[in-house]
Amino acid sequence: MDKKVRVRFAPSPTGPLHIGGVRTALYNYFFAKKNKGDFILRIEDTDQTRFVAEAEKYITESLEWCGIKLDESPDIGGKYGPYRQSERKAIYKQYADELLQSGNAYIAFDTADELNKLRSDFEAEKKTFTYNGDIRLSLKNSLSLSSDEVNAMIDAGKPYVIRHKMPENVELVMEDIIRGTVKVNTSALDDKIIFKSDGMPTYHLANIVDDHLMEISHVIRGEEWLPSLPLHVMLYKALGWEESMPEFAHLPLLLKPTGKGKLSKRDGDKLGFPVFPLDWKSKDGEVSMGYRESGYFPEAFVNLLSLLGWNPGTEKEIFTIDELIAEFSLEKVGKSGSRFDPDKAKWFNHQWLQMKDNLEIANLFLSILKEKGIEANTDKVAKIVNLVKDRVSFVKELWEQSSFFFVAPGEYDAKFVKKRWKENSASIMAELIDVLEEVDTFTSAETELHVKNWIEKSELGMGAVMNAFRLCIVGAGKGPHMFDIIEIIGKEETIGRIKKGIESIKR
Ligand code: GLU
Repeated sequence: MDKKVRVRFAPSPTGPLHIGGVRTALYNYFFAKKNKGDFILRIEDTDQTRFVAEAEKYITESLEWCGIKLDESPDIGGKYGPYRQSERKAIYKQYADELLQSGNAYIAFDTADELNKLRSDFEAEKKTFTYNGDIRLSLKNSLSLSSDEVNAMIDAGKPYVIRHKMPENVELVMEDIIRGTVKVNTSALDDKIIFKSDGMPTYHLANIVDDHLMEISHVIRGEEWLPSLPLHVMLYKALGWEESMPEFAHLPLLLKPTGKGKLSKRDGDKLGFPVFPLDWKSKDGEVSMGYRESGYFPEAFVNLLSLLGWNPGTEKEIFTIDELIAEFSLEKVGKSGSRFDPDKAKWFNHQWLQMKDNLEIANLFLSILKEKGIEANTDKVAKIVNLVKDRVSFVKELWEQSSFFFVAPGEYDAKFVKKRWKENSASIMAELIDVLEEVDTFTSAETELHVKNWIEKSELGMGAVMNAFRLCIVGAGKGPHMFDIIEIIGKEETIGRIKKGIESIKR
């Protein structure tokens, strides 16, 4: 039997989660749920210098907002816990020791200053310094020093790190579900630090130890981690875990709207779109916009991110999270980066807004109305939403398209007046009042019937009546079907607005 699918999203809590990270989480989630597997949140907080206290909460809240349900996490727990690497500190040292004992790792005493000096010496000769097989014997480590010297230095409290000893000239052949076969010669790689002088493992060691102990079946992560894959594979081999090593899938980058380079916060700032799921306030008080606060529906956000890299193979673009789970496959994730298109992002929200129940939108809109001091009946607002929603992409844009339902126009669009309010407009409007007074059931259909009959008989022409009518009711040349509008505002208000128009609109 195939082993159970268990995937993890393993962010480092160094700040807000970039939307690229959210996409990684989503693909992991879809993959897990499609395969009846587990989705785990693991917090990789071994780098204490970059730790940001609020980041973990931000990550959890973001995943929750997207509708992702975690099976195991620091908050929920689970039988593979703890799920914060800082709480697993005691676990890692034994594996570093095991690697030391098997000769796959060594102790290195070189100080940061010494290494920096070497780097600049190399640079001066236009060479790059790499801590690797070519040079390690000339540096200060347990391979170059005698064991007495090493023990003496340790006893004297000299700080040291543990480095992985990358073997030389091994052709490593690795499989990636998205990229296929990836080959690397180990001579091109350096001896990475796997355990730091502060007693913490580095990302590489902690990551593979945890993936192993947590029985992770597939590692699905961003392309920026592909260069680390050879080291990870070497570590799995060195620890004797090759047989149960997870399968790997490295996701393509999210690209700038221009298609050139990785999508960054700066692109968002420049073009006015968020690159974070939720608002984030940095320590110095700087606020970065989030999709949630910008008015995106979580469904639209999930939908738009899912299609940045994955392609269902059909024309279908609108997917619910359940449909994504049903249809997702790693085989359909592309190799090349996906360009982020801010207009397309809005389009997704527009589509989702159209699909939502009018009452749901009305309730959201009601709180905006309330802020403006307008109390309105929910059913009435739902009707208004129904009439104008195809003109907006966000709930916050509804006011702009529908304010005239709630407040009579205070002024009249000068351009439209100039073009459409003719000499006889006032008298036509006076006649219109008489026609409307006659209508008993003031519905859209009834008023339309009466008004159109009158227009036909009087031979006034549709334009002459309807443009002036719109100006009186809306104050401008915009808005949905006139008769739908007046059904909602009612007879009295309609006639009142026409009267006011007759008095106040001046050519
Ligand atoms: N902690 C890494 C990150 O922040 C995880 C990479 C991985 O998934 O292996 O992205």
